[in-house]
Amino acid sequence: MARKRSLDVEKYEEILVEERDRLRTELKRIEDKAAGRDRLHSDQAGQDFDEPGGDAATETVERAQSMAVGASLREQLEEVLAALEKIENGTYGICDACGKPITKKRLSVLPWATLCKECRANLSTM
Ligand SMILES: [Zn+2]
Repeated sequence: MARKRSLDVEKYEEILVEERDRLRTELKRIEDKAAGRDRLHSDQAGQDFDEPGGDAATETVERAQSMAVGASLREQLEEVLAALEKIENGTYGICDACGKPITKKRLSVLPWATLCKECRANLSTM
């Protein structure tokens, strides 16, 4: 009486765990880089006076960019963690909003999807 799963959950779990580790590494790299750049900047502050404004402006833009990248990585990490939690709970592949199964096609593109296509689309228009 083995209950056959319609989804190859193990395969998705593997992808999700890999993705979680990748995102964590990437986030740490960005944070380290931001911290390292701060030190570098204050060390060189005296030498860069002949280029007024230039470096500071680049710095600000780059910092804003890595903060944006960091924020979107963190967002994605949360989605991945939510999907892994759904695997634990046995609700993986089920839409959080309507309870209908998420299509395999969608899961193969977005293994961390916790909403079906319709609910996700409704969410973005809100
Ligand atoms: Zn749904």
